[in-house]
Amino acid sequence: RQELYRETRDRPSDSRDGVHIDLLMNAGLAVDLPQLDESGAAGIGLFRTELQFMVAATFPRAEAQERLYRDVLDAAGTKPVTFRTIDIGGDKVLPYFKGAVNEENPALGWRAIRLTLDRPGFLRTQLRALLKAAGGRELRLMLPMVTEIDEIVQARDLLDREVRHLSRFAHHLPTKLKLGAMLEVPSLLWQLDELMAAVDFVSVGSNDLFQFITATDRGSALLSDRFDPLSAPFLRALKQIVDAGHRHKTAVTLCGELAGRPLSAMALIGLGFRSISMSPAAIGPVKAMLCELPVAELEICMADLLASPNAQHSVRPQLQAFAAKH
Ligand code: PEP
Ligand code: MG
Repeated sequence: RQELYRETRDRPSDSRDGVHIDLLMNAGLAVDLPQLDESGAAGIGLFRTELQFMVAATFPRAEAQERLYRDVLDAAGTKPVTFRTIDIGGDKVLPYFKGAVNEENPALGWRAIRLTLDRPGFLRTQLRALLKAAGGRELRLMLPMVTEIDEIVQARDLLDREVRHLSRFAHHLPTKLKLGAMLEVPSLLWQLDELMAAVDFVSVGSNDLFQFITATDRGSALLSDRFDPLSAPFLRALKQIVDAGHRHKTAVTLCGELAGRPLSAMALIGLGFRSISMSPAAIGPVKAMLCELPVAELEICMADLLASPNAQHSVRPQLQAFAAKH
């Protein structure tokens, strides 16, 4: 099997009927970077910047942040990298962060973009480090745990201020700046048109989105088999996101664990996703699946499955049957 995946590394990420899918990898530390070449990933779809903060004993200084971001961009070369601004709080605690509070429901608490907008000093330092590291090249940024559009507006305002600050001091700025939002909080499903208009791209964080849609703690072993992401209600929500992206010509991708399992990745492609980001080890198996996949046929099958009046349950068996047939 390892041989098979090694052989797929240099093959194009195209389906049997010629549909190209961007297979990107998730990363978070410098040690992940060699995987870019080894896995054959088309780029980094999610760089979890909070990992640098989590492995440190004190807040990483601005210089250390900038150095890491520069190393990542250097390692990626011409491949795109999407940096997520720090997603701390919830289950990701920094022992040295004195402002942290004990919360009854940390997953629903003071975390990610909520925390960084309340403590804009963190975010401004990070944005400045990212802008400096990406001088002369493209910078793609995305915001975690967005709940309402105004959070994007506020973050963009901070970003604009940092850009103005750096240009005043004649710093080399990024050639292109793209700002995206993660779609992890269900409230965004009812503001999809506003969301798509407010950003350059959207990345679905299916780990959190599924946890919040089903009110199921993503870390609970007791619940891990209870609800299936390959069930029509969740897949319909994902389909609405893809369709809204098409309407607004806003790029939509998905970077949760779902992207890294061949059967789920197949379902995502059947819904219309053309870019997915996963752990590097998953790229080979997903690409091996993709090379055999008739996408046009799958899209028809998927549309039928989701339109069925009995589709409140998992459609995993039907997807398995499709996979077995092809
Ligand atoms: C997600 O929620 O799907 C995601 C990619 O972010 P994280 O797993 O880091 O919360
Ligand atoms: Mg998340």
